Amino acid sequence: MTNHVVLIGLDGGTFSTLDPLLDEGVMPFLKDFLASGVRGELTSVIPPLTPPGWTSLITGRSPGNHGIMDFFRFESPGSRYIRLVNSRDVRCETLWSIISRQGLKATVLNFPLMTPPRPISGYVVPGWAPWRYLRRLCFPQSLYEKIKTIPGFNLQELAMDLQLEGKAIEGTSKDEYEDWISFHIRREKQWFEILRYLMHEAPCELTAILFDGVDKLQHLLWPFIDPTYFPTHPSAWEQRIRELCLAYFRQLDGFIAEIVALAGPQASVFLASDHGFGPSTEVFYINAWLHREGYLEWASDAPTDSGEAGKLGLGTISRWAAMVGASHTTAYSLTPSSNGVHIAVAGRRGERGIEPHEYEPVRSRLVEQLYQFTDPSSGGQVVTRVWPREEAFPGKQMDWAPDLTLSIRDGGFVSILNSKVVLKPRPEVVGTHRPQGVFMAKGPGLRQGLALPALSIIDVAPTLLYCLDLPVPSDLEGRVAEQIFASAVLHQRPIRIGEPTSVPEAFPQGSESQEDKDGEAQVLERLKNLGYVE
Ligand SMILES: [Zn+2]
Repeated sequence: MTNHVVLIGLDGGTFSTLDPLLDEGVMPFLKDFLASGVRGELTSVIPPLTPPGWTSLITGRSPGNHGIMDFFRFESPGSRYIRLVNSRDVRCETLWSIISRQGLKATVLNFPLMTPPRPISGYVVPGWAPWRYLRRLCFPQSLYEKIKTIPGFNLQELAMDLQLEGKAIEGTSKDEYEDWISFHIRREKQWFEILRYLMHEAPCELTAILFDGVDKLQHLLWPFIDPTYFPTHPSAWEQRIRELCLAYFRQLDGFIAEIVALAGPQASVFLASDHGFGPSTEVFYINAWLHREGYLEWASDAPTDSGEAGKLGLGTISRWAAMVGASHTTAYSLTPSSNGVHIAVAGRRGERGIEPHEYEPVRSRLVEQLYQFTDPSSGGQVVTRVWPREEAFPGKQMDWAPDLTLSIRDGGFVSILNSKVVLKPRPEVVGTHRPQGVFMAKGPGLRQGLALPALSIIDVAPTLLYCLDLPVPSDLEGRVAEQIFASAVLHQRPIRIGEPTSVPEAFPQGSESQEDKDGEAQVLERLKNLGYVE
């Protein structure tokens, strides 16, 4: 009999947030779980971002191979225009597909890049899906008829809703914080109820759910969550906001407890995140810096970051490329989320740019200048790491990647807007991503009370396959995390390497629909709210 495996995703889960909550008794179940399970940091990919992070976790492949490097991608290899990524762009097979081919079933709830749906053996309710189309985007479609009968089911709160996401943007005004947190508390409950229903009515060998409120709350409410930033003498309002954040995590702890109970003592339960989190206190205006250094010419209508006005409107992100004066621009950044810099090379993507033979010298000089850039007030180095594309994205999909990817000293995302100064303190601390996510596991045959050195996010998929007693496809880049298993288990049931994965079939040409367009608008609204669209 195959052991059942449960994967609980915590988007943006990080020990720097969770450990204080464990100490304060906010998450008692998780504390016990870890006392008798294993824990370790989970190193995310470059860049440590939701779409590449989860895609790497569920494929066991790196972004240079699966092709998901950002929320966005060029429309085509020859285009300077960008669009949002979707399931069509995932070039490697998912865990759900791998296990389906071998006769097992999966339940998959709220994972990104699951639309348009691909058939699997099991059940998928996709994340990041507009509520209006959720019925059609569930797999199988008949699943929707079942989940809508769950008591308390609320479609608009479960899926994406332009009005609610829009309201969430206004939620960045402080009097809406309470509504925003309560909304995420209710949304997680919606997802949990679907999971409980399916675990009861149609149990699968692999059950996976993603709770994404962890990421949302940390982005907007970091100073209320991180004890270092929470005031020693908080106002009644500050205390109330913190209490609500704690209520979110308390509820999450309860859900984890119930999921573990539902899975039963024979199941192996894994918790993992796509990236970690930390504070961001300043903004680096990469394009303003590139302009200052003579690489970028602004178009006359380029927006300036003037605080509130000057933000790119919804939908203009895909026109962004046109806002940089193409003729004299040799390097530019297209999205804040990627922390990437593209070099304009003549003939590539129809650009004028530099001649191909100038590419290496220009890129090396740019890297050097990025490292040399220092904070005018403190003299500190701002760009702490620059990866050329062949280091960050080796693989078949590398041509889609930025030429350079940066890590900046406060761990945050760059701004692509114009600004008079290239480095500016943020008016308020916000949460931003870090490469160190979380990995936690407990189950029969797993070691107990063990703290591990960091694992790689691409090790999760092969580890879950091993737990499901399946061979690990030979082309997975990650490895089974042998160190989490008791040695007797590895001895009795050696790791098997099997046939390579199958490449996902391309969707038919012209299958893009109004659903995609509506979906894009809603995803953009959500991204704008989280600070990824400027
Ligand atoms: Zn994330």
